[in-house]
Amino acid sequence: MPENHRLFTKTLLDWYDPKARPLPWKGEDNPYFIWLSEIILQQTRVEQGRDYYIKFKEHYPTVHDLADAPEDELMKHWEGLGYYSRARNLHTAAKHISKELNGEFPDTYKDILALKGVGPYTAAAISSFAFNLPHAVVDGNVYRVLARYFGIDEPTDTTSGKKRFAQLADDLLNPKKPGIYNQAIMDFGATVCKPKAALCNTCPLRESCYAIANENVYDLPVKSKKLKKKTRHFHYLFLNKNEKVFIRKRVTNDIWRNLYETPLLETTPDGKLPEVLDIAFIESKTGYSGLRLVRCSKPFKQELTHRTIWARFYEVEVSDHFFLPENEGKEIERSEIRNFAFPKIIDCYLNDNSLYLF
Ligand code: SF4
Repeated sequence: MPENHRLFTKTLLDWYDPKARPLPWKGEDNPYFIWLSEIILQQTRVEQGRDYYIKFKEHYPTVHDLADAPEDELMKHWEGLGYYSRARNLHTAAKHISKELNGEFPDTYKDILALKGVGPYTAAAISSFAFNLPHAVVDGNVYRVLARYFGIDEPTDTTSGKKRFAQLADDLLNPKKPGIYNQAIMDFGATVCKPKAALCNTCPLRESCYAIANENVYDLPVKSKKLKKKTRHFHYLFLNKNEKVFIRKRVTNDIWRNLYETPLLETTPDGKLPEVLDIAFIESKTGYSGLRLVRCSKPFKQELTHRTIWARFYEVEVSDHFFLPENEGKEIERSEIRNFAFPKIIDCYLNDNSLYLF
């Protein structure tokens, strides 16, 4: 191992204090719980993921409990975390482990990687934390620490860049303590070598760090592409039939699959905010008749990784004879609406329906 690699790994392990950043999954060696925490933490802040992890552990203490959970219940527990494909994949993989592997969690990197929804990062985390296998984790924290310390300006989102960082991460891994090393570099990226306001003044790697010597801490790591976001405009119809309202499950291969929503009209963006639709337009587009518009909300916004969603909500009264085909909506008591899992933007509306335009 080159001297600067040895120095990096030793300094990091000397710095690491397992008690310094207590998290409910730290020190856990049950692969099922580690897997749960890692899936929850993908694309999620630690502070937000913590409560969900505790909730999932309580509701589904074994992989069999998770496998046997009704899908709607699972999605309801996941509600608010976003990236719902994670929940669907978690369920599929739990069923596979429960039914086909008799509840035995796979114990090799290759078999863990083969689980639905598990990528190289998660497989390395489970392999090293649960089975002490020598696989280095590489995530945003690791890219940042390595790019800055070793002065690597190769983009992290290209094939060759990914390969280079993965190779370096493997070289730096202490094979005798892979779990501790992985936890150390993740904690270091999260608490010292932070994206903004890195603690360079007190950093134990300061003396040998490339970025601090070259005054380019915040220029690293480099990405080649800037994400281009698409904007979508949704108009949600709350069709109120006395105390009832119509909801449906999103089943198409689009965002928020398997979550619930109310009947929806999507319009093409023209400017930043969705225009307010009039009732004649809504009737002509949906084919519904006898609608009486009571209120329309102000626009709500939700940012997803690849999309910006704008939505307006229309409270509409319909007659007692109004009905929808099964695939377009089913009637539920409005008081029961909280029993279903909705996308965050609908939740925001339900939590704050004072935001009416008229
Ligand atoms: S000195 Fe600053 S940039 Fe370098 S490793 Fe430490 S925190 Fe990161």
